[in-house]
Amino acid sequence: MDTLPPAQRHDFKTGDGVQLWLTRYQGGTKGPVLLVHGAGVWSGMFMLPTLKENFVQFLVRHGYDTWLVDWRASVELPLRQFTLDEAAEHDMPGAVRKILEVTKASSVQAVAHCAGSTAFFMSLAMGRLPDVRSAVASQVALHHIVPPATHLKAMLRLPEALDVALDYLSPDEDPKNPVWQTMFGKFANLLSHECDSTVCHRLTFMYGHLYRHARLNRETHERLEEQFGPCNMLTFRHLAQMARAGHALGFDHGKEENVRRYGRETPPSYLRAEHLRLPITFLSGEQNGTYLPESTELTFEWLREENGADWYQRKVLEGYGHLDTFMGSTAARDTYPVVLEALQATG
Ligand SMILES: [Zn+2]
Repeated sequence: MDTLPPAQRHDFKTGDGVQLWLTRYQGGTKGPVLLVHGAGVWSGMFMLPTLKENFVQFLVRHGYDTWLVDWRASVELPLRQFTLDEAAEHDMPGAVRKILEVTKASSVQAVAHCAGSTAFFMSLAMGRLPDVRSAVASQVALHHIVPPATHLKAMLRLPEALDVALDYLSPDEDPKNPVWQTMFGKFANLLSHECDSTVCHRLTFMYGHLYRHARLNRETHERLEEQFGPCNMLTFRHLAQMARAGHALGFDHGKEENVRRYGRETPPSYLRAEHLRLPITFLSGEQNGTYLPESTELTFEWLREENGADWYQRKVLEGYGHLDTFMGSTAARDTYPVVLEALQATG
């Protein structure tokens, strides 16, 4: 990491009292750009030590003032049960506010991935991020199309079937639940045979195929447990609800509680285009096995229909899956330049 300026950590507390932080690498005067990680990982997904050049190093080299948020899904934070509604309401606005406060900039750009992108776009759609001037959505935004064999439902039923009360699933060895974790590992090993890593197989069970093996270098694959950790069940349930509905909607708390919270029996949709009139680039890995490329296509088409074609772009990353967009050994050559181009075009 000798190509990076020293990291600056900026803590902030969300409106509902969750302690989060941003890590800043002041690469230059472009940006500031906020990077939002997915669920079950942390901001480290953008700065793998096992790559010749990771995404943060790449942005810094191109003069970007780069800010990574560890929002409430970060595996570096104590595990908590939360819905993406909470993250959309509190974490994303809190992160943007903190960046503006420190930099005195008048607006930010953002690159958001997977569940982080969903929470980010839910926040945008609700009009909570008026200071975001452009955004890049990696793999998914407001429409959720998962492969037919998706494991989300199975994942929720497996603990039930085995009669274990779990409030999270983790790919890593887990000293708190060693017996369950061994069983889960054996089960996942039965289903996946791509490699001999149980951590990798548990990940596939939890999320579908997160990367194309050919795109990861050996060191990255051997050190997966440094990047991944537990994901709480409430978030999984919310993601499963969205996968069933096909798009982002409020968490379904059940009729009675929905009426109390939303004033209606069913959760409201986040498909509200009026606050999404800003330059947005949608990226999908052509071979994404977690969220199908149709996911970004639907949001892209919907927004063009609603707000006109001028604001939006969509790129399909040939030969890439889901996380290899950022964690792949050749991402610096193939995918980072696509993100850079989007940031520059809307800078
Ligand atoms: Zn593997």
